[in-house]
Amino acid sequence: MKRYTLFIGGRPVETAHHADILNPSTGDVVGGMPLATVQDLDAAVAAATAAFEGWRAKSSAERADACRAIAAKIEENSEELARLLTLEQGKPLNGLGSRFEIGGAVAWTRHTAEIELPVEVLQDTPEGRVELHRKPVGVVGSITPWNYPVMIACWHVIPAIRTGNTVVIKPSPMTPLSTIRLVELMNEVLPPGVINIVTGENDIGAAISTHAGIAKLTFTGSTATGKKVMASAIDTLKRLTLELGGNDAGIVLPDADPKEIAEGLFWGAFINNGQTCACLKRLYVHDSIYDAVCEHLAAYAAGIVVGDGLSEQSILGPVQNRMQFDIVSSYVEDARAKGGRILTGGTAYAGAGYFYPVTLVADVDHGCKLVDHEQFGPALPIIRYTDLADVIAKANDNPAGLGGSVWGRDIAKAKQVASQLECGSVWINKHGAIQPNAPFGGVKQSGIGVEFGAEGLKEFTTIQTVFC
Ligand code: NAD
Repeated sequence: MKRYTLFIGGRPVETAHHADILNPSTGDVVGGMPLATVQDLDAAVAAATAAFEGWRAKSSAERADACRAIAAKIEENSEELARLLTLEQGKPLNGLGSRFEIGGAVAWTRHTAEIELPVEVLQDTPEGRVELHRKPVGVVGSITPWNYPVMIACWHVIPAIRTGNTVVIKPSPMTPLSTIRLVELMNEVLPPGVINIVTGENDIGAAISTHAGIAKLTFTGSTATGKKVMASAIDTLKRLTLELGGNDAGIVLPDADPKEIAEGLFWGAFINNGQTCACLKRLYVHDSIYDAVCEHLAAYAAGIVVGDGLSEQSILGPVQNRMQFDIVSSYVEDARAKGGRILTGGTAYAGAGYFYPVTLVADVDHGCKLVDHEQFGPALPIIRYTDLADVIAKANDNPAGLGGSVWGRDIAKAKQVASQLECGSVWINKHGAIQPNAPFGGVKQSGIGVEFGAEGLKEFTTIQTVFC
């Protein structure tokens, strides 16, 4: 078993202790996660601070070149990264799994390399000239979740370094190894100290969010942890980007074609086994086509092979960890107890691994956990509605506001419904499709700030207004 190291100041750093990282398909040990101490974190922040002056002084073109070189490094090592990701996260190599995630990391890195934030001239008159300059914030702390550890690490690190910041990243203790390897590759391109990694349990995340040497935090994870991070950032007034949990609603209008939308609905809900922030997590279907939509979704689900991610045949893998597996199982049991009709799945597979079948639950409503809370796993509640105003109110009756979708043939009508949904992104006849040139972020309790595109890049800068 390989024991991994931290990377601080461009060099591998050994730790006294490690924790076993387990393959969720088999329970086998994949590797040893280094357990960083607070002293290691201090050293990482010191290295990032020391590197900051030199890195911010580079030209935008030099930093763009570095990002392009990182994209090339990830691409050259993509199969190795994909296998490590599958081993620790569980997602299949194939389909919308590990190779897809690594491809996304490359695409986002390449796109971000090309974005410029030029000086804006706000006024240029005989009375005076006013310019808006954007400056790096300093040392950025990055805390990532376990669902897309490589791609989300790139979403955090690349815009931070593109704009002249240096970074200390802390991945989830569930999936730290692929991020360690990613940071090792980044260090083959970047000057020492520009990107550093510390790994360990949640206490290291808490130490990052209070650390006086960190000027900005970019956090992706659950709403509950995001609130703790926000509270701990108060003393040092850290800048924050928080990408938090979602409970996205999808509304199927009566003019939708149940057969045509089944595949899109399925992948909107079950990409990465439902372990995606902007998955479709509550599906509302008009009474007139309710049975047909249920039938076509169940038929599509019947063709999905769930298995070990290393098998090229697997389309979905296991749930990533025991805690999430227990949440999904208990929410399905709660829905069943409250009258939910299981169309498919509903009982965990026997044997090793956290395998849970694709599960569709009909005839449920608000008041059960599967509808009211984020399941973050392979179980979708399907809710019947008759009145449009009523269903829009129900879709909005949730503290989360990440994404939403509307499905129907009349696009103008669908857009009109979409405009009434309280969420940061809304899709018509698809769900969860994100891209590197379009800002992405949540409203309400799904977060603060956005990622991607120029708007996302700006979050890693402070404004200096120059009057001359
Ligand atoms: P989590 O909140 O349990 O953990 C996220 C990270 O926070 C981990 O690295 C963890 O170690 C760290 N952490 C835990 N306690 C901490 C503390 N007190 N202070 C600082 N850091 C701490 O989330 P998770 O289970 O890893 O991820 C799943 C959640 O993430 C879901 O709710 C999902 O919707 C959300 N998510 C959101 C987005 C988005 O863009 N909005 C993207 C992916 C995932």
